[in-house]
Amino acid sequence: MIIGIIHVNRKKGRPSRCRICKEDISAGEVHAVVIMRYGKGQEAVFKLRATQGKAMTKKSGLKYRRLHLKDCLAMWLVTVYHYRSEARRERKGGRPPLPIMDLEEKSIRHKLVRRRAEVLRQINAADDNTRIVKLAHRLEEIQDKLEIPVTPPHERNLHRRMILGKVDRKITAAKEEQS
Ligand SMILES: [Zn+2]
Repeated sequence: MIIGIIHVNRKKGRPSRCRICKEDISAGEVHAVVIMRYGKGQEAVFKLRATQGKAMTKKSGLKYRRLHLKDCLAMWLVTVYHYRSEARRERKGGRPPLPIMDLEEKSIRHKLVRRRAEVLRQINAADDNTRIVKLAHRLEEIQDKLEIPVTPPHERNLHRRMILGKVDRKITAAKEEQS
């Protein structure tokens, strides 16, 4: 499981608080910075905040945690792992849980999942191959932006499985005809 990019740095400037023990990480102290949201994920949150007039700096949307190297980093990793891991899935049953997301992340994911469903419906209803290929590209774009993919339907959900299968076949056929 990828949790983030770990940097080990000497604290510059003012002291910060450690995410785990809430004690200071003082200036000059070597500590861990785990960057949890960056690249495309950060871009998406940045854009969302910008449209809401909330993006203040270029770093807006970046998510990271500062932690003491001794004990705190390990404890934090175990906690994150626990929340995201299969242990929870087994305890709760059903699909693996999504990682804990803040409101912005949830809203972005929600929008993408809805857009994906809409494109799937459009492909299902379309019969023009040019349009199907175009929609298929849009679907791929949306899937790229979804940091955590949508889980495949359960065995029981026959209807959704049938639609997905049908859409898949339509895309393959349309692409073959266009090539
Ligand atoms: Zn600490």
